[in-house]
Amino acid sequence: MQRVRLAAGLLVAAAPLLCASTALADTIVLRGAHILTMDDAKPEASAIALVDGKIAAVGGDADMQPFLKGAEIYDLPAGALVLPGFQDSHNHLVWSATELEDTDLTSVADKEGLKAALEAGAAKLPAGTWLRASQWDNVALSDVSAADLDAITGDRPVYITSADVHSAWVSSATLKAAGITAETKAPEGGRIEVDGKGNPTGLLRENAMSLVSKLLADYPEAQVDNGLTKALDEAYSYGVTAIIDPKADEWMLAGYKRFDDAGKLKLRVKAAVEITPEEGAGGVAKVLDYKKRYAGPHLEVDSAKIYLDGVIETGTAALLEAYVGSNSAGDPLITPEKSKEIAIAADKAGLQLHAHAIGDRAVRMALDAYEAAAKANGKRDSRHQIAHVELIDPADIPRFAALGVLPNIQALWAYPDSYIVEETEPKLGPERSEWLYPFGALKKAEATLVGGSDWSVTSMNPVEAIQTGVTRQDNADANGRVLTPQHKLDAMDMIRAYTVNGAYAAFDEANSGTLTVGKRADVVVLDRDISKVAPTEISGAKVLVTLIDGAPVYKGEGLPEPKKE
Ligand SMILES: [Zn+2]
Repeated sequence: MQRVRLAAGLLVAAAPLLCASTALADTIVLRGAHILTMDDAKPEASAIALVDGKIAAVGGDADMQPFLKGAEIYDLPAGALVLPGFQDSHNHLVWSATELEDTDLTSVADKEGLKAALEAGAAKLPAGTWLRASQWDNVALSDVSAADLDAITGDRPVYITSADVHSAWVSSATLKAAGITAETKAPEGGRIEVDGKGNPTGLLRENAMSLVSKLLADYPEAQVDNGLTKALDEAYSYGVTAIIDPKADEWMLAGYKRFDDAGKLKLRVKAAVEITPEEGAGGVAKVLDYKKRYAGPHLEVDSAKIYLDGVIETGTAALLEAYVGSNSAGDPLITPEKSKEIAIAADKAGLQLHAHAIGDRAVRMALDAYEAAAKANGKRDSRHQIAHVELIDPADIPRFAALGVLPNIQALWAYPDSYIVEETEPKLGPERSEWLYPFGALKKAEATLVGGSDWSVTSMNPVEAIQTGVTRQDNADANGRVLTPQHKLDAMDMIRAYTVNGAYAAFDEANSGTLTVGKRADVVVLDRDISKVAPTEISGAKVLVTLIDGAPVYKGEGLPEPKKE
């Protein structure tokens, strides 16, 4: 699809918050399409007026009358759909954006492809310097070692992260630089893979990655800025107007802040800062310090992130019962006591919690920690979240609504791809596999589902996740197997997860999430009505225009020229 972008200068001039007096278009009217407001008080409309960055009127053509003079009027194609801007509640925007500026292994699925990509990456670097790469497909390329890298890159230190960012693959020079030998003990919550003789193979899981990542130089600001510029444009092209960044380190917050200070951060970022088991309750002070220092009109640190486990593919997800064919149920990355200690302290400080939990034991630990916080500090409007929720024990399903905990779902993962078919179902067995991504059961139990991409683990295009949430099939194969059909959601559930529920998760429902008079004019227009088309047509939807604060930040093919009356 051909993307039509506005020139940067025009964007700045049109942003009402920056310079309302010189705004090119104070008023925009969108009409002639189906409008789903996601506001129960007035769910549908056919025209909307945006004035000075806010929604001024929602209704029919007659309601637009007071706003037409001087307005830019878009007569939208019939069949288009107007929605509140999408909110992506789990998006590693600046981190992934920066990593993708390293050598990108996104489409590499075999050793030949790897060789070509790493050679091309190395050619751009001075001899002996670190080569960093990301998006390694550790299912397609699982049986690998440091020697494979040495054969391509010689004695260069190499650090490659898997697409799920739970494993690292390093060269022999890297093992040497990090002092990792057969004697090295992995840090708690980490695993150094070894061969039959006990020697490290070059694969590091979870917290063991830190043995190397702590040696890496800070990213140059230019790399962060280049990456973030592209990632923001990509977000706008999908209609994303707000995100929750679930793990923002200080350099990432500094990147957002640089952009916000320069007026280049249009979408809203709510950020979570990780508290490690070593930091414990003391980590709360760090989060509060970042909250103070990295605040801006579009940026707020409001959450603490805790990692409870890893991923099922590598046996690092924490399960209630052992993996099939193994004695191990996977060790959590943190003890139940520590997770409660952190949850209680963060909750007491008024922070939201954002837990990474994949296995059913990790999910239960997160719920237990949140319950402990409510007991210790009194029940409050905390909106704590659990991201991923890949496997939930049925006994824990009702606890989400009961505790007011939000399942933060990555619906694009809920179909039978190779991760599920080859690496997950065989490790769980048929009975537990019935409870993979149990979104339907969560909905029936009245949990508030929020949607996130986990970009760059998977695509940040919300309509792709919306389709998979509805079909639980491969978006590219309408006849493909359906994963646990009892957990299907409908299109409106998924749209809600990406709009009104996202705003709720971000404590921003007073300003966004529905098309309601007085709220921020964050709007996306799609070329088709994804609430009505066949489910297999949803992911093909294209954005005609994305507006933030009433100003277009992306214009797609098929958007008519605005006219004046
Ligand atoms: Zn994540």
